[in-house]
Amino acid sequence: MGCGKKEIPWNFYYCPYILRTGEECNRRCYDPKGCKAHRNSPKHYPCIQPGCVKNTFSEYGACKKHSGKYRSRAFYQRQKLAKIQVSGG
Ligand SMILES: [Zn+2]
Ligand SMILES: [Zn+2]
Repeated sequence: MGCGKKEIPWNFYYCPYILRTGEECNRRCYDPKGCKAHRNSPKHYPCIQPGCVKNTFSEYGACKKHSGKYRSRAFYQRQKLAKIQVSGG
């Protein structure tokens, strides 16, 4: 019962993976990309909808529930632009 000291010789990182709860995994890992479980998973970003705890795969995207809202707005704007181009002339 002698040696109890166990030092970690390498620099470790904290897993940046965002869990479904909206919190970061924060598990210590060797890889800056994340812990063993999340290293190979695509990074998630929190939904751009304020107050929403869901995550999305795209940095400026919204979760499944809110993506329709944001996508439809962009779609509407594109249609508006197309209409202007057609009628103008
Ligand atoms: Zn993790
Ligand atoms: Zn959302």
